[in-house]
Amino acid sequence: MSEYYKVPMGEKKRIALVAHDRRKRDLLEWARYNAGTLSKHILYATGTTGAMLSKELGLRIHKFKSGPLGGDLEIGAKIAQGEIDFLIFFWDPLEPQPHDVDVKALLRIATLYNVPVAMNRATADFLISSPLMKGCYERIIRDHEVFLREEIERIVEMDLD
Ligand code: PGA
Repeated sequence: MSEYYKVPMGEKKRIALVAHDRRKRDLLEWARYNAGTLSKHILYATGTTGAMLSKELGLRIHKFKSGPLGGDLEIGAKIAQGEIDFLIFFWDPLEPQPHDVDVKALLRIATLYNVPVAMNRATADFLISSPLMKGCYERIIRDHEVFLREEIERIVEMDLD
């Protein structure tokens, strides 16, 4: 049984955009410069970030709740379900957030599912200009279910002894 499985990412990436308040201007400038490219993909965002991007740039964006009200966790859940495969997350390194644990959860789940993540403009520039953006790509993910099944078998056997 393989320890890994692959999740295909189509030409149209499903991109989530999130920015903390003091990083929103940064994200807006970046998104303005890349609006043409972004509009070719399927866009998601936390509430306020999404409202800003659709109002200022006219982008079509599926909006979740605002970050502090659960939006980060909604995006994390979509990543776990395989429905979002790309994350642009300009978090604020200088200001504690009321939902710091949610921020950590989102970054953790994005790492676990091998989702490309940009946390600043330079990384976002490199990601969006990658040739991989234009084609299909298979993300390789470790199949933790295999380990869970083995663990359950081990526990059951211990119980029978
Ligand atoms: P917002 O949330 O887009 O609703 O401001 C961002 C965040 O704080 O995660």
